[in-house]
Amino acid sequence: MTLAPSRVTDLLAEARLAIDPVDADLLLAHALAKSRTWLFAHADDAVAPADADRFRALLARRIAGEPVAYLTGARGFWTLELAVSPATLVPRPETELLVELALARLPTDVPVRVADLGTGTGAIALALAKERPRAAVVATDASEAALDVARANALRNALRNVAFRAGSWLDPLGDEAFDLIASNPPYIAEGDPHLDQGDLRFEPPTALSSGVDGLDAIRTLATGAPAHLRPGGWLLLEHGWDQGSAVRALLAAAGFEAVATHRDLEQRDRVTLGHRP
Ligand code: GLN
Repeated sequence: MTLAPSRVTDLLAEARLAIDPVDADLLLAHALAKSRTWLFAHADDAVAPADADRFRALLARRIAGEPVAYLTGARGFWTLELAVSPATLVPRPETELLVELALARLPTDVPVRVADLGTGTGAIALALAKERPRAAVVATDASEAALDVARANALRNALRNVAFRAGSWLDPLGDEAFDLIASNPPYIAEGDPHLDQGDLRFEPPTALSSGVDGLDAIRTLATGAPAHLRPGGWLLLEHGWDQGSAVRALLAAAGFEAVATHRDLEQRDRVTLGHRP
């Protein structure tokens, strides 16, 4: 008996039994080197056996837990398509809240200076650079491998107003002062059981966790940022849903004013900000 070749719709139905439907689309589109919209218009097309095999191999890896963005090598963030590698955190939609809050504090008509610390794929730095072409953005990361990904993403998105620097948190800023410093630092407590579950198992531990209460990086950023902010300059930090009051206390203790926490679309505390007097 010869098996009829699988159609696009059959492969998607097979995958949807085991994984999220959007993930199924992304993996099949990647295996076929087509776009997601192509899939919808070609549901009844037969898929070559080699392509179907490649898709099923990706599906097996996804079922074993690997993040889809590592399997496809890309993730959409803001209006950008970003390359992603296992050296970087996969950009999350929640982080777009931080981008919105930063943009609300960045004038369009003045050449402001902005820093994104621990840039990973470059998600925050590149989104801000795209929306504020007159801004000079500095993106830092302690990982050279992550900086390579971020630099490639700047080229891929034709963004020339971002400079990349290696180093830990505020170290690469020298004695420079900025109008706004943003960071989505690691904030999960070491030993948190979530680190051993789901996609987090595959992401860089240094991008995820920071000290016994998860707040080590945020403490460093809160205490170090004032020396690198112009008067009136803003610090914006992403953090965990249960860290809002702790982060507000750290910012207040470091002398920040107008300290406030903003919630993400799921109504969870997500970003705390304040400005230097
Ligand atoms: N800034 C990057 C992002 O938001 C990386 C964050 C991180 O590695 N903790 O995706």
